[in-house]
Amino acid sequence: EPHHDATDSGDTGAQKMKRVIEEEHEIGFIQTLLVHPTPISVQQSDYQTIEVYESDHFGKVFLLDEALQLTERDAPHYNEMLAHVPMMEYLAVQQPDEGGTINALVIGGGDGYVTSELLKYPNVVIDHVDLDKEVINVSKEHFEWSSAWEDERVNLIVGDGAAFVREQVEKKKKYHVIVQDASDPFWYDENGEKIILPSHVLYDMKHFDGIYALLEDSNGVFMFQAETYNIPSNLEEIQTWKKSLEEIGFDGVRYGSIAIPTYSTGQIGFFVAHVSNKDMVCKSDGGVCTMDLSAGLIDWTVVSSQFEKITGTTKYYHPRIHRSAFDLPFWVEEAIYDS
Ligand code: SAM
Repeated sequence: EPHHDATDSGDTGAQKMKRVIEEEHEIGFIQTLLVHPTPISVQQSDYQTIEVYESDHFGKVFLLDEALQLTERDAPHYNEMLAHVPMMEYLAVQQPDEGGTINALVIGGGDGYVTSELLKYPNVVIDHVDLDKEVINVSKEHFEWSSAWEDERVNLIVGDGAAFVREQVEKKKKYHVIVQDASDPFWYDENGEKIILPSHVLYDMKHFDGIYALLEDSNGVFMFQAETYNIPSNLEEIQTWKKSLEEIGFDGVRYGSIAIPTYSTGQIGFFVAHVSNKDMVCKSDGGVCTMDLSAGLIDWTVVSSQFEKITGTTKYYHPRIHRSAFDLPFWVEEAIYDS
């Protein structure tokens, strides 16, 4: 049934908003643009409920445990940033020798999009580990970017990302770039109870320790989905993760922001953190290390020239939006960096 608007239902604006929230179980205005979703696939895996809908304005919509993961229309915002920010920050410091490879690990990301973006770098090789075979199967059926898994540079592993990291640490495996595209670790039900989701194991200190060990000592980059600063409980998690990463020894731990209309607050963020040889990273800034990696330590002319070499095009990512993603509202900067 179509939405009534205020004029035909007699609602005030506030009543209408309340009704939309209750009926749609969603909190943002933008979700009302997803109206009249048509279910394409609804199934329950061992780990989560997986749903795909066709929407009026955002193409196909993909949900896990009722939480929106992506829509075809704005998925490039999130996935391009998760892939290109760490790759460019790696390449800004170090380019592989002729014939050399960039070893990347993708944890989560069972829709395949981050992996498909990473493949735009001709010399990348990727281990991709996701917990849920069913997410992979549903993505293969409904999303074109899942063809990434057919590329011979990708080794797809079905399993728990935290266990995979532990095993690779034991084997002394090294990566140059690690991208963790996990769903949120927790959710809160209608009574405010904290619900633990399958990805919570990917956000604890022991797991981050393992990631640190897996990154090349000379120059390695870790990137992960790190929630929105607009929800107070998420902001607390952001503060905790920043402290954990620094305690472990990561350099240049920065929270960057992505505008994404269909996520509940229209904003999602990521952490990017380096395992680096400080001399190398700081060279372009006269050896002075400051927090301001976006302006000082990354050589943006190198980023621009490397960006021109990728295969294909992007819709959201370009070096200037990469650089400005770390400019946060003043109160957020204070909350993250001065707390
Ligand atoms: N872009 C999304 C977002 O933030 O809304 C995240 C997308 S991605 C689909 C999340 C993936 O994490 C899913 O494919 C899920 O199966 C995977 N996942 C959850 N827990 C995991 C774990 N412990 N190990 C590996 N993958 C996990």
